[in-house]
Amino acid sequence: MRTTALLCLLLGFSTQSIAQPAAISPRGMGDSSETKGPATLIHAGTVLAVPGNGPQSTMTIVVRGDRVEAVESGHQSAADLGIGSATVLDLSEHFVLPGLMDAHVHLRSQPFDRQVTRGFNRGRTSLTPAQKGVNAIIYARRTLAAGFTTVRDLGSDDQSVFAARDAINRGRVVGPRILVSGASVAVTAGHADTTNVDQNSPTLRMQNAVCDGEAECRRAVRYQAKMGADVIKVTITGGFASNTKLLPQMFADELTAIIDTAHQLDLKVAAHAYHPDAIRDAVAAGVDSIEHGFLVSDDGLRMMKREGAFLVPTISASYPPPFLRQIDPPSVRLRNEYAAFERAYKMGVKVAFGTDAGTFAHGDNAKEFGLMVRYGMTPEDAIRAATVVTADLFGIDDIGTLEPGQLADVIAVTADPLDDITALHSIDFVMKSGQVAKRDGVMLDGMTYPDFVGFSTPER
Ligand SMILES: [Zn+2]
Repeated sequence: MRTTALLCLLLGFSTQSIAQPAAISPRGMGDSSETKGPATLIHAGTVLAVPGNGPQSTMTIVVRGDRVEAVESGHQSAADLGIGSATVLDLSEHFVLPGLMDAHVHLRSQPFDRQVTRGFNRGRTSLTPAQKGVNAIIYARRTLAAGFTTVRDLGSDDQSVFAARDAINRGRVVGPRILVSGASVAVTAGHADTTNVDQNSPTLRMQNAVCDGEAECRRAVRYQAKMGADVIKVTITGGFASNTKLLPQMFADELTAIIDTAHQLDLKVAAHAYHPDAIRDAVAAGVDSIEHGFLVSDDGLRMMKREGAFLVPTISASYPPPFLRQIDPPSVRLRNEYAAFERAYKMGVKVAFGTDAGTFAHGDNAKEFGLMVRYGMTPEDAIRAATVVTADLFGIDDIGTLEPGQLADVIAVTADPLDDITALHSIDFVMKSGQVAKRDGVMLDGMTYPDFVGFSTPER
């Protein structure tokens, strides 16, 4: 079962990389507080423990190990709770909520990286895999500092983001937990086909997940799974980053082969799609999420609602980035793309939070909240989209709320985001899996990383 695999991944985090108020001890070793390790008590001014259920003021969140153990009314001491000693984190002036999630990021790069590295690349037009790997580590840390404790990286044409994910999971560097797709599955000359016409070798096609027809497309999915993918990304229309028009690019047999193969492997499928017909084809074939979905029809939205498919609206990326306006692909002539989000929300389609960070600067992910609220979502629903709903899309049931038994992914801000959603632009406190990563607006872990901690923890 998918959840089990992810649970292993989540439990496999090393505890050594982030300064922490409480030492971690293995879970399930016994019942007494002594054997479970010391507790941390978060005294919260206000807490939105379950986004969608409203805030509560003056609460204590009891954290032990990597989990929330209890959420109690009032500011309780260890003696009050009868749990021996505990570290108290005073967030009594703060608004506390679960760690945020972004279902659509590209950690390998962000705008102007090419200019930054041009001197080293001697005329290359793209970053090397090594440069992308370094970027992914830096940008992952920046994303965690912005309050995002779980993200999904959709589309990297090499092993760079797998490497960053694994380094974070082993506690070698600090970052959010990352679900990685690897290369986007695409047809020849499709949106994510990054191979050059004169390098069209079978190996390159496979590495880049380029496939035509049922058999190749099954193999493309299996190859990404073999490389360690947590999710499958497929591009089924053009987009801002290509000049391949916006029409559908895959036949039903290819879509079905990709989605059925992924589901057989217990992997979700995220489809980059603009054109309404492509969206309906993907939903009919059983896709889990439509990414962007800018041109979705009402019929397509009804299908999504009926089938339980999620929209990941990426409003932040609904206006073409400036450098593309010079190239002027057909997609640049799209306008009012946020309308898909507005209509989906009104119709009751499940909307998960996703930004396409990497087409803009990492760490600015929370700006999407302002756009969601501007185009009709309530602040609490926007937060719910980035917690409860995105966890549901990921198929992970122990993140997204602050309830007993959940992973202790906790963030805090100094203003009330239900009053003014832009409060989430400035994150004061971040805890991931029970470990404090950021306090008083400052990341606690410098850029000094611990020695390699070995392979003792499971990788997924
Ligand atoms: Zn994207």
